[in-house]
Amino acid sequence: MRIGVIGAGKIGGLRARSILGHPDTQLVAVLDTLSDAAARLAATAGARPTTDLTQFFDTPMDAVVVSSPVPAHEEACLRAFDRGLPVEIPLPAIGQVWRVCYRRTPDRSVRLRELADGVLELTGPVHDEDACRARLRQWLAATARRVLAPWLERISERTGLAYKSLQIRGQRTRWGSCSTQRTISLNYSLLFLERALVRYLLIHELCHTRHMNHGTRFWALVQSVEPQAQTLDGELGDAWRDVPAWATWY
Ligand SMILES: [Zn+2]
Repeated sequence: MRIGVIGAGKIGGLRARSILGHPDTQLVAVLDTLSDAAARLAATAGARPTTDLTQFFDTPMDAVVVSSPVPAHEEACLRAFDRGLPVEIPLPAIGQVWRVCYRRTPDRSVRLRELADGVLELTGPVHDEDACRARLRQWLAATARRVLAPWLERISERTGLAYKSLQIRGQRTRWGSCSTQRTISLNYSLLFLERALVRYLLIHELCHTRHMNHGTRFWALVQSVEPQAQTLDGELGDAWRDVPAWATWY
C-alpha cells in the first residue's frame, strides 16, 4: 500500500516511522509547507518531497495520512476524497448526470456499459482503481466526440469558419487548441462545464482558423460571434476546478 504523509512535523515523523516499519506499506510522498522538513522526512524513505498540494496528489498513492496543523486539514481531506472513483458524473455541457455502479466479476479487464436511466455500470476487476479511471476516461472521450463533433460542425457552418479535422484529447492544461493545419483539438473535460462556456471555447478555436494568435483582429472576430467573449474567457480560466481529479489524473 502506497501512503502519502501531509505535514512533516513531529506527528508526521511518527506516522512516517510506523509506515516504514510495516512490511506492506510504503511511504511515497511527503508534503510540508517548509521544504526542508519535507525533504528531510522524505529522504528517510526515498519518498517524493513537495511543498505543493497538487504535486503531492500527482503521486500515485492508495492512502493519505493528514498530520498537518488542524486549520490545513479541510483542504487536504477534500482533495484526498476527490481522488477516489466517482459515484456520480454530472455533465452540465450536455445536461446529463450519470450514476456509476461498480460490480466485481471474474472478468480479466474492466468493462463499462451504459444502462437505462443514466446508469453507468463497470464490471470486472473494479478494485483496480487505475483501470476503472482509465475506462471512465475512455467513455468520457467517446461521449465528448459524439457530442462535440456535431456541435463544432454546426457553429462552423453558421459562422463560415472552416476547420479540417477534430481531435478529442485529455490535455491537462488546455481546453482546446487549433493547429496551423486547422486541426482543432478539444479537451473531453469540457463536458464538465456549462454549455455557454463550451460554446464559447468552440467559437474561440474556430476563430483561430483565421487568426493564429490572440491579436486585436482575432478578438474582434470572436466578439462578432460571441459578444460575451471576455467574460466567458475569464470564467473558462477558473473552470478547471470543476473537473474532477479522476478525469485528469493518470
Ligand atoms: Zn486561443
